[in-house]
Amino acid sequence: MNIGIRTDKNDFFYDIHSLVKSFFPDDDVAIFSEDDEEKCACPRDLTIRVAIPPAYERRKDAKDLLKRELYETLSAYTEQRLPWGMLSGIRPTKIPMQMLREGQSEEACVRYLMEEDFVSEEKARLAAEIAGRERALLAPFSLDKDSYSLYVHIPFCPSICLYCTFSSSPASVWKKQADAYLKALETEMRRERDAMHAEGNRRGPTTVYIGGGTPTTLTAPQMERLLTSIEEIWDLRETVEYTVEAGRPDSFSEDVLGVMKRHGVTRISVNPQTMNDDTLTRIGRRHTSSDVRRAFSMAREAGFDNINMDIILGLPGEGEPELARTLEEIEKLSPEALTVHSLAVKRASRLRLNILEDRELDISADRGAYRGYSLGASNALMDEASRSARGMGMVPYYLYRQKNMRGNLENTGFALPGRACLYNILIMEEVQSIKAFGAGASTKRVYEDGRIERTISPKDVTLYMERVMETCDGKNRRL
Ligand code: SF4
Repeated sequence: MNIGIRTDKNDFFYDIHSLVKSFFPDDDVAIFSEDDEEKCACPRDLTIRVAIPPAYERRKDAKDLLKRELYETLSAYTEQRLPWGMLSGIRPTKIPMQMLREGQSEEACVRYLMEEDFVSEEKARLAAEIAGRERALLAPFSLDKDSYSLYVHIPFCPSICLYCTFSSSPASVWKKQADAYLKALETEMRRERDAMHAEGNRRGPTTVYIGGGTPTTLTAPQMERLLTSIEEIWDLRETVEYTVEAGRPDSFSEDVLGVMKRHGVTRISVNPQTMNDDTLTRIGRRHTSSDVRRAFSMAREAGFDNINMDIILGLPGEGEPELARTLEEIEKLSPEALTVHSLAVKRASRLRLNILEDRELDISADRGAYRGYSLGASNALMDEASRSARGMGMVPYYLYRQKNMRGNLENTGFALPGRACLYNILIMEEVQSIKAFGAGASTKRVYEDGRIERTISPKDVTLYMERVMETCDGKNRRL
């Protein structure tokens, strides 16, 4: 469907667009002001007129009023309420977190989310529960202006998944360049550390997170080099958590796991996404469910006692029976944490291109289908995954949303008590600076007054390596 949103003022376009897309994820939505004669004349399947509040003292009040009215209009038209109501941001726990900080109760947070933002009771309770837990987990740490965590990005993967838009490239193509990339990382980290010392901050990071991509695509000597350089550059004596997102089971080797263990890595991920082999092939992952089981045992044998597993709900062709199989397999492995994602069809993913271009795909019957397969998560699937995680003794400890999530749902991290990932909470709640290194990595400086400044490195690996000196200069000016 081709939807046009006409407004009487050039304002709040982003908020309006996000809310309309939440109701119509598969449709083209154009937003324009009534002065734009060309766009107004363009034929549409549906046109909605939105009146922007004429005058307002606080922009937020005007935005909330506008969104509430638009939500009710769209809800009446589509005859549906959205699980997260009119919340379109990626951090729904921020509101209850702030309310708890002000001394309000979890029950008050639930009421506020339901009444002001039209969030369903189930999701409002989940957000309030997680905010309460995050607060308790963050309480022992002094998150002042000098504190920070480290993120190091390794942008290589064994193959590129159908839904991926992360900064990642096939490891086989970059094999010869991996050492040069590590050198660029070292240069960038040393420059940042020196700038920090020059400003009188000699603190070490609270947490370290090596993510990607798939960091375990590095060979054992390359991993040794990376972890040694991190130890040489940063003071890790007070670091409480050290994660390597091992990720793809087809990248695991005993040697690499041994290096990680020797260097004090405390937490890793083994991410199946699904335990159904047909789906794994369909989404472009070149490993099987047996590889997941093998990688998991290898990690246990190497001594890792805090292993997270990621799954994605609503992958092409997956419904309740497929999820049941995945959860049953994961329960047998008994990880310490389970992160449940709902499929997001991102703009730059191959999955979205395939849908748009109708490649080998019959979308005539169902706009949401991919090659005739169902696509997207549902609340029922989310509930099933949550039941399984809670059944393993885990509790939800962090939550975020993404754009273009099928079913307007969320991603939730569950963990056994004492095994939650502090880095995940820090990055979601934006209560501490994150110093990020590598191609496409996003450094975030959190000021005492709550202001946040971001610096993003070039996503392209070659450009990143070429520009690393320039990138460092840019960061030093801001941090
Ligand atoms: S493993 Fe993750 S980063 Fe790598 S291609 Fe798949 S989705 Fe992208």
